[in-house]
Amino acid sequence: MIPAVQVIPLLRPRSLQSRAFDYRVPEGAEREPLVGELVTVPFGRRRVRGVVTAIGASGEVAFARLAPLDSMSGVVLPPELLDLAGFLSEHYLAPAGASLRAVTPVHLLKEPAPEREVSWVEPVLSEGSAVPEDANGTDSGGRDPEAEPERAALTPRQREVFEQLLPEGEPVAELTRRLGTTRAVVAALVEKGYLRQLLRAPRESADLEPEDALEPPPPLALTQEQAAALTRLTEALEEGEASRALLWGVTGSGKTEVYLRLLELVLGQDGGAIVLVPEIALTLQTVNRVRERFGDQVAVLHSALPEGRRLKESARVFSGEARVVVGARSAVFAPVRDLRMIIVDEAHDASYKQEEEPRYDARTVAWWRIRQGGGLHLEGSATPRLESLHDSRLVLRLKERPTGQKLPQVEVIDLRSRGGRGVLSPAASEALRDVMRRGEQAIVLLNRRGYASFLRCPSCGEVVLCPRCEISLTYFRREGVVRCHHCGHGAEAPELCPSCGRAALERGSPGTERLSDELLQIVPRNGLFRLDSDTVTSTGRVQEVLEGFAGTRPSLLVGTQMVAKGHDFPGVTLVVVADSDTALYLPDFRAGERTFQLLAQVAGRAGRGKNPGRVLVQTWNPEVGCIRMALDQRGEAFYREESAIRRRLGYPPYAELIRILLSGKDEKQVRAGAVYLFERFTKYLADDELLGPARLPVIRRRSRWHLLLRVEDSERGRHLVERALAQLRGPYLRRGIDVMVDVEPQSFG
Ligand code: ADP
Ligand code: ZN
Repeated sequence: MIPAVQVIPLLRPRSLQSRAFDYRVPEGAEREPLVGELVTVPFGRRRVRGVVTAIGASGEVAFARLAPLDSMSGVVLPPELLDLAGFLSEHYLAPAGASLRAVTPVHLLKEPAPEREVSWVEPVLSEGSAVPEDANGTDSGGRDPEAEPERAALTPRQREVFEQLLPEGEPVAELTRRLGTTRAVVAALVEKGYLRQLLRAPRESADLEPEDALEPPPPLALTQEQAAALTRLTEALEEGEASRALLWGVTGSGKTEVYLRLLELVLGQDGGAIVLVPEIALTLQTVNRVRERFGDQVAVLHSALPEGRRLKESARVFSGEARVVVGARSAVFAPVRDLRMIIVDEAHDASYKQEEEPRYDARTVAWWRIRQGGGLHLEGSATPRLESLHDSRLVLRLKERPTGQKLPQVEVIDLRSRGGRGVLSPAASEALRDVMRRGEQAIVLLNRRGYASFLRCPSCGEVVLCPRCEISLTYFRREGVVRCHHCGHGAEAPELCPSCGRAALERGSPGTERLSDELLQIVPRNGLFRLDSDTVTSTGRVQEVLEGFAGTRPSLLVGTQMVAKGHDFPGVTLVVVADSDTALYLPDFRAGERTFQLLAQVAGRAGRGKNPGRVLVQTWNPEVGCIRMALDQRGEAFYREESAIRRRLGYPPYAELIRILLSGKDEKQVRAGAVYLFERFTKYLADDELLGPARLPVIRRRSRWHLLLRVEDSERGRHLVERALAQLRGPYLRRGIDVMVDVEPQSFG
């Protein structure tokens, strides 16, 4: 019997706890643990999941003092997944525990628990109230409180909830969230006999079910462009070697249809595939199209799924039952059998980068996986990142929409010469009124949250800042609060300047809340739908807002960049960008690219139906390249110019970046750590390979400094950083300094 094994606990990110620990195999164990096996071990006071990484102790240890393994699961992670975790740790300098945790299918992360039951409520039909056989959601025959004098009267709030109950019932937690009500109201309804409380197995979410699972729509006859792209991609797929391709197609050009054909091909050859999409809530259309076409062969992996469903889907992939996985970022780790293809849809989307350990980029991981076993790595976008254009061996264009619709016409409104005082110029207001008069739909984008971006005292000039961050607070008028977008701190909005107490506060740049108020002069309240992270906080709510908008005429959808994602609303004939400059001056070399992408994407929402689309872009900077060039949504000019700038300045794709961020309570110590690293790196790097050290705003009372390595050979950069950190971490971590390493960083704040 083997006395000891090494186990890496699958802990949430903590930079120090990334090593393997020794455990002894308890006496009487019926077999030896296996390398890669999931086990449960005591860790501190907890029992945690871990992976056996080696047999035998790591060094000389007193066997009797080792803690024993709790249990062995009998489940062994396949070598591909262990390799994948190794790649994450090596490439992203991520802690081993966090990397292993990332690649472990969710249903294996916990010990299997007995089927849980949830607290569930359903409406009580009162006696004698006949319910017709075909009663469905619209029937209220048995539920009309007016007709039920024997039951206690309801308060207006209780009645409102009662009237919105689903006839089939639902979990209490879901009900309170859906209707924005409390458990107390539910309890009162139970008390008064309107609701019955039960225990039930968690139910499957209806959210992600395709509408008509039984009748998959027939494949469309491909256009010439689509067919040509498919031919080239098929060749690449059948070559056997790993190949990297980009499907660069204008919005609405039918990229999804090409993906579906490729999936058919892979499945026909008994292969497996992964389709990555940005946030699922905003891309349900794509998810559902894949599910409609391939039914049970598809698993959907996403953190917003109800837990029971999530674990089930994960198990279906692990067992090989599902051959196609559709999911957000983390689905890139799915242990799909015979993986032949990974498609990254909307590949320009920022959500593909994970902003916590392991700080991986799903696009890089996808390519690494395909490189291991051969096959096709395909990115699709109307507005690709420069990196995709640069790295793809095969770039295929779709320049036309198959439905024959023209790309919308884009016009610029120069805010410097506008009249009026609101967010919208008179021209934009007039265009919106026209659309409403015609009974059509419009989208208005303003990438700023709240009512105003800050509050400032006109007398002393002070801006209301977060007490924990060096950041101005956003003002929310309806709630009467100010809130910090970095740490979540909230407070009542002050009436007078908190600093000098003399004057009423002025408001900074308008956000979506203020714009919504303005739009109420153009559209009635029930025709206005708002989509931003303050008002819409769950996947279900996003769906509700989008469906509400889609089903109302005339109607207006207003919101932050969430409104620009791949939605397909045929009734939208006008898109207004209220302020196209919000991202333009961020300290980020991708600011221009992001602005271009946002404009071209949101413009693509217009004119997808029978009527042609029109796009109005309000800007203070009509001469700036990325704004001017977004007028031509095919983007050649933009990419030519942007690529020249990046090459000249030495930014990706012409160099690789590694960012190191130090933070801590003590500004002096943090700065000293940054200077230490800087001095160390200058010995090995050329002047233009090292940027910083630079101070960043304090967040959550922590001082922050960062450095940026800009190297052509990221291998060398990573080695440098690894060695430097090994030296730095010991002494500085003891002084309470956190060091974060971000390889391929996407944000710099
Ligand atoms: P993209 O993903 O490029 O934005 P979609 O795949 O959503 O575009 O396609 C846009 C619209 O065009 C969809 O309504 C789709 O059904 C339709 N479409 C795609 N391919 C064809 C085709 N070959 N013939 C007719 N309609 C098509
Ligand atoms: Zn804050």
